[in-house]
Amino acid sequence: MDVQRTPSTVLVRTPAKLNLFLEVLGKRTDGFHELETLMTPVNLYDLLWFAPADTGDIELTCERFPSVERSGEEASRLPEGSDNLVVRAVRLLAERAGIWASARMKLWKRIPVAAGMAGGSSDAAAALVAANAGWRLDWSREQLLPLAAELGSDVPFFLGRGPAVCRGRGERIEPASGLGILHFVVVAPPVGLSTAAVFRACRPAEHPQPLAPLLEALRTGDAATAGERLFNRLEPAAAELTPWIERLRREFADGEFVGHRMSGSGSSYFGLCRNLGHAQRAASRLRGRGVGQVYAVRTAC
Ligand code: ATP
Repeated sequence: MDVQRTPSTVLVRTPAKLNLFLEVLGKRTDGFHELETLMTPVNLYDLLWFAPADTGDIELTCERFPSVERSGEEASRLPEGSDNLVVRAVRLLAERAGIWASARMKLWKRIPVAAGMAGGSSDAAAALVAANAGWRLDWSREQLLPLAAELGSDVPFFLGRGPAVCRGRGERIEPASGLGILHFVVVAPPVGLSTAAVFRACRPAEHPQPLAPLLEALRTGDAATAGERLFNRLEPAAAELTPWIERLRREFADGEFVGHRMSGSGSSYFGLCRNLGHAQRAASRLRGRGVGQVYAVRTAC
């Protein structure tokens, strides 16, 4: 996440993420699932502009890139008012800080909605950071973390930098260093998936996959093993909900990728590439296949 401040405004550029590994270890008594996941931010960004105001109101306008909203369930649409995670985040911060919430915001939305790329969570983290700076609260990251976890399981990840292993329901974060720069092709198909629906359809692991071999392979540059060890327990559940997952799996099987998987709860699907050139060539081939929005991306901070 990049933050630019002027005396009266804050501009935050906030990334999407991919899950290189996602295991569902069990269902908890609070209804959430116990996860182990390796996430990396990638250089596909939303942009949030924040200006404190004295109107006593929170105003948000959204400008969407055409590919952001997809068909499918209600979950694939971007809410503008108080349901937008950006608005919920700044209201929560104002409430906890005991101040009057008043601001104008604009969100340039580029990360596809309901794609398993956590655009909403990333925007929520950006909103906490922007409002913290814009209202000059000067809360530390440690102070913002519990609010982030309250807003959503993936939100705390975006308050950190770089790839991380996230456990619990996603809020226990351990930075994963030494993975180098990784290049990917990501496809967001025309149909989005609701995270809740995918988790409902998923059965937790009877024999959980270990994460360590993937981390080791990425750290030592062992591409063959890294490709084999990309994993997502939610993929079969998502494939029951939309034929797009199977279609993308077949499309990616032709691309000589190091490995390929669905990200998060879908519906986006990514291939791990050998280098930038491979990512660009694979992206232009997939753009001709009518599979949805195609991005060539790499790991970001
Ligand atoms: P995850 O990977 O965390 O499961 P996702 O990428 O599948 O998330 P998001 O795009 O983050 O899904 O959207 C999740 C839900 O949040 C959608 O139903 C969407 O309507 C709602 N939402 C609220 N605010 C936002 C926002 N600023 N950006 C995107 N979605 C938002």
